[in-house]
Amino acid sequence: MSTVTAATSAPTPVGGSAAQKLPSAAVWQQDQGDKPLVWVNGRMVPKHAATVSVYDHGLLYGDGVFEGIRVYRGKIFLCKQHMDRLYRCAEQIRMKIPVTREEMIAVMRECIRVNGYSDAYIRLVVSRGYGSLGLDPRKCPVPGVICIADEIHLFPAEMYEKGMRVVVANRPKTPVACLDPRVKTQNYLNNILAKCEAIDFGCHEVIMLNLDGYVSEGSGDNLFIVKGGKLYTPPPEVGLLEGITRQFVMTRLAPELKVKCLEKKMTLDDVLDADEVFLTGSAAEIISVTQIDQHDGKGKITRSTKISDGEGAVTGRLRRRFREIVTGANVPEE
Ligand code: PMP
Repeated sequence: MSTVTAATSAPTPVGGSAAQKLPSAAVWQQDQGDKPLVWVNGRMVPKHAATVSVYDHGLLYGDGVFEGIRVYRGKIFLCKQHMDRLYRCAEQIRMKIPVTREEMIAVMRECIRVNGYSDAYIRLVVSRGYGSLGLDPRKCPVPGVICIADEIHLFPAEMYEKGMRVVVANRPKTPVACLDPRVKTQNYLNNILAKCEAIDFGCHEVIMLNLDGYVSEGSGDNLFIVKGGKLYTPPPEVGLLEGITRQFVMTRLAPELKVKCLEKKMTLDDVLDADEVFLTGSAAEIISVTQIDQHDGKGKITRSTKISDGEGAVTGRLRRRFREIVTGANVPEE
């Protein structure tokens, strides 16, 4: 009797366990190297050591908020607006960011400086923080702050001139009443699974519709159409992130180029019937959509619609003006 008990309760010998044979995330992580240096909860650490606790509610539940921000010529592009959105979104999920905006900006500048970047992409994450194995956010008294400055290449470079093919996601956008997509939370599975539909068909991006069939946005960018020389973009109430690049197009680029821009609820047919379609985002910048495919959810494209032969004229003017500004001497931080 005693032998049985002893055998079953003995610890599994090291080296012989099934778990030991699994590929080790830790080893893979170590291979990622030292660069860049990353800000994690008050410390600047090399990439492979940039880790958070397994008890962090950002990891356990996607409970937190984030920002993706571009740095051009050493300037944090539209920094103020990103800070406004980050702090607003934190409030909307009842989280108090434990550092001031000034301190947050100082952290970003430090990440740029120590890594010697002039152009970069910043990922700011404020997670609910270290807690216990339950949903209650009160168990996480101090939110965690992470700042990564790195490179990003969202879409292949040649697509910026030639335009891209996208698919329409069958998965609808999370409804506003459930989790308003205006709040940029770490909970991005709706977008990731929609993006997987694009990947299934060899594309880089999707167009997402809301439950009523109105066009909302891409998985990580906003959508515009050009029709009759005017720009149209869906309004936030259909369920989308109020992108900062979207705002920049509406309030700076379009007026500068004397193109009228309006918010309008659009069906998929409105978009398929457009003269031009393009996407905007901090990572995406401005990129033309030249073909939109629909699929049946079983692996077959059911309809392909060509929008334009290459990048449209209005999109091209907007994109070139955008590039002029972000490569120019006065990259706006406000
Ligand atoms: N929509 C979604 C879902 C996004 O993740 C992003 C990227 N932040 C955007 C739109 C574009 O927003 P922004 O221009 O602020 O980067």
